[in-house]
Amino acid sequence: MKELAHQEHAAHRILGLVPTMGALHEGHLSLIKRARQDCTSVAASIFVNPKQFGPAEDFAKYPRAQQTDTEKLAALGIQCVFIPEPAEMYPQDYSTYVNVDGISERLEGRTRPGHFRGVSTVVLKLLQIVQPQFAYFGRKDAQQAAIISRMAHDLNLDAEIVVCPIVREADGLAMSSRNVYLNPADRQAATVLHRALQAVQNELHKGTRDALQLQFAMRRVLEQEPRAKIDYAEIVDARTFEPVTHVARSSYALLAAKFGETRLLDNLLIEFNPGNTNEPRIEL
Ligand code: AMP
Repeated sequence: MKELAHQEHAAHRILGLVPTMGALHEGHLSLIKRARQDCTSVAASIFVNPKQFGPAEDFAKYPRAQQTDTEKLAALGIQCVFIPEPAEMYPQDYSTYVNVDGISERLEGRTRPGHFRGVSTVVLKLLQIVQPQFAYFGRKDAQQAAIISRMAHDLNLDAEIVVCPIVREADGLAMSSRNVYLNPADRQAATVLHRALQAVQNELHKGTRDALQLQFAMRRVLEQEPRAKIDYAEIVDARTFEPVTHVARSSYALLAAKFGETRLLDNLLIEFNPGNTNEPRIEL
């Protein structure tokens, strides 16, 4: 992979990297398509990273679909698919980790200790191996994208981190490789996440800026669905992921809930144009 990356650089191609864990769906493919627009050469990686799964999590049963994944990637005409083995990425004497303090400990980090340490470490390794000018991540995992952007900034990495919109199913459920775990009743129930975020959107349109009121609007919808076990439903600053009391700058409404054994995430981005704190731009 490093040799190939050197060749691409020597040929003055603009190289983009899309890191994934495979089991590719339209969400992943949207990142590839964006990379194809920006770059003259695109590499996707498929690596189910053992370091980001807790001991009681789904590493062993995480969906793997290498054959169909490579077919989907080939159909999009990308230049390279990098599929390393865990033992290549983490040989026995492996001992170096990256930790992005503060932001990694909140929300997802609180429920999944060590998760973001695994994510930051593998992403830094992938960026070191591929040396792309651009690396693409989905806003579906908003906290992950913020952590990686912070790492890239703090460690003076060359790659520009590009965060792309959430791709949803027709009924609003955010696409995720883990959606295949859902039984039909939980699959139906999981649409409550999108509806809870729509409730926040409606409140914002009505002029509500108080974070507690916005949180209450989310929870009121979520609590109507008995199959949803809420982990968190919070309004946070989009950069630090600290809770806010009043929405006046870029913020996220963030949700995590379990349906059966499947934990799902979703979020809504609230942005303000400089000089206009009245009408936020809302991205679902
Ligand atoms: P994963 O394979 O789950 O590690 O995801 C690889 C990349 O795809 C991450 O940057 C995710 O945020 C992104 N991604 C996953 N689902 C979606 C989605 N529904 N819309 C946009 N990006 C997504």
